[in-house]
Amino acid sequence: KKTVSILGVNFINTTLDGMVGKLSEHVQKNEKAFVVTANPEIVLHALQDANYKTCIDRADYVTADGIGIVKAAGLLGTPLPGRVTGFDMFMKLLQLANEKSLSIYLLGAQAEVLQLASETIMKQFPKVKIVGSHHGFFDWADDKIPNEIKATKPDFVFVALGLPRQEKWIAANINNFEKGVFMGIGGSFDVLAG
Ligand code: UDP
Repeated sequence: KKTVSILGVNFINTTLDGMVGKLSEHVQKNEKAFVVTANPEIVLHALQDANYKTCIDRADYVTADGIGIVKAAGLLGTPLPGRVTGFDMFMKLLQLANEKSLSIYLLGAQAEVLQLASETIMKQFPKVKIVGSHHGFFDWADDKIPNEIKATKPDFVFVALGLPRQEKWIAANINNFEKGVFMGIGGSFDVLAG
């Protein structure tokens, strides 16, 4: 089976490397993609918030972020091969972007955290082109950020606004863009900032 349904959320049946390979194809073909790395908290939030569930349903790929999802899939008799977490995927995609000199846009976290995370990325992945970034405390009605993304056409847009904001922001904005892999990555900038 290509997907496994857990409480109405359809998870892609693939490994971390499988998912990275798929997203690499999207970038090569300039095809947009919306990725949700869903932990149990996201699945439970989707049950309570119909609007959020609609956002999750619009994702091209939902991955199993956490052992709880993998265990649930097993118990339901439709096993998944393993965890595909937001942070692991973020690291693998930065590695890919470094190998291929791809461009990224960073959205989210507090300004100082974002700055430190950007510096870590520049040090560890020197060939990655950070074409823009913005902290995560902004007016959603302002077009500044979407306009920046439209103008710079990044290969990857990493959105670290926490749930449910990051998935809602991507769902609300992705139609404005021609290309890019969009993914919510929770507190990953805080981790990189140290
Ligand atoms: N964050 C943000 N804008 C907001 C709220 C949170 O950029 O309006 C950032 C926050 O600074 C942190 C990340 O989102 O870097 C994850 O936040 P949190 O830990 O609250 O989310 P969760 O762990 O629940 O995904």
